[in-house]
Amino acid sequence: MPTIDTLLQQTSWTRDEICALLSVRDPAGIETIRAAADAMRQRECGDEVFFRGLVEFSNVCSCDCHYCGIRAGNPSVERYTLSADESVQAALWCADKGYGSVVLQSGERRDAAFVELVTEVVSRIKAGSVSAELPHGLGITLCVGEQPRETYARWRQAGAHRYLLRIETSSPRLFATLHPAHQTLANRQQCLRTLQEVGFQVGTGVMIGFPGQTVADLADDVLFFRDMDVDMIGMGPFIVHPQTPLAVHTATLAAQQQEIYQQALLMIAVVRLVLRDVNIAATTALQAMKPTGREEGLTYGANVIMPQLTPTRVRTHYQLYTGKPCMDESAEQCAACLAGRIRSVGRTIGYQRWGDAPHAQSRAPAPH
Ligand code: SAH
Repeated sequence: MPTIDTLLQQTSWTRDEICALLSVRDPAGIETIRAAADAMRQRECGDEVFFRGLVEFSNVCSCDCHYCGIRAGNPSVERYTLSADESVQAALWCADKGYGSVVLQSGERRDAAFVELVTEVVSRIKAGSVSAELPHGLGITLCVGEQPRETYARWRQAGAHRYLLRIETSSPRLFATLHPAHQTLANRQQCLRTLQEVGFQVGTGVMIGFPGQTVADLADDVLFFRDMDVDMIGMGPFIVHPQTPLAVHTATLAAQQQEIYQQALLMIAVVRLVLRDVNIAATTALQAMKPTGREEGLTYGANVIMPQLTPTRVRTHYQLYTGKPCMDESAEQCAACLAGRIRSVGRTIGYQRWGDAPHAQSRAPAPH
């Protein structure tokens, strides 16, 4: 295998070479990869960090993912669904602050009332956020799981233009260890294709460090992202939640925390190098593992951050994993805190624009 320096001079990499990059453990080697990814981010996306205000509008979920704290099978969760008014209000707050985009995230439901609620919220946010600075209103990203084509098309029509659906892992074997039998990787992949077909900019991603996952699996994930031609990536460390089936691994995972965190950062860097001009989020899960996690993510190739807009009244009920930070700060405090974190790593905030990935802009416009 060539040295790290030689690998970093290449513009494309084989699976084995991606594995080699993801396997680096010595600090000097990691720093070389980080610096290369940071330079790639700077060249392809610039220095701006884009905010996507996050509204977790419901924790009601019909899925039973083995890793997730709000799974249907967790009876300890106090379930909530924000009213359309409340969701719209939270989103419009961020238009006021000059953020260009919001993300609406929730547990997974497919019933008519839910489809209607999301449609209404998207339409009202669009209508309410048009301004001189944002002539097409806020950019709206949805993250509400697997849905039929008609539903995706309806929401696209209502004005959402980005959709996040993580595949969690590209390995069918591992996917089966993380989900009940009726949830399949094949369906998730089909959903990603459908989302692209109905005109969404599509984001996906994986969790890093869950039991059984190897570096080779992560290399396959990177190749999957590349081959799917996605526009956005959201990835973070796996963090065990005590009221889930994966809690049996708590002790083993506790011993590996530092390693998992470093692997997550390296994965961000390698995805930046391979996919080049996509948007990559510095996710909250990084900060749950280390207080400076999100800004560190920014220095490894990420260029998007999702400040919390979920009303504090319900925020504690949306815990996918333990140790989620920013539980009691107001949206105002979250924004101020994140602005400081972004400045601390020498970056600026991209206000009053959607901040679509250059990758998406070069393919097709996304007006609405
Ligand atoms: N229901 C939506 C939103 C899921 S939550 C959907 O299916 O898309 C968003 C992401 O949180 C998930 O895709 C998963 O990757 C991540 N997540 C869930 N539980 C987690 C855990 N225990 N540790 C780390 N990330 C987790």
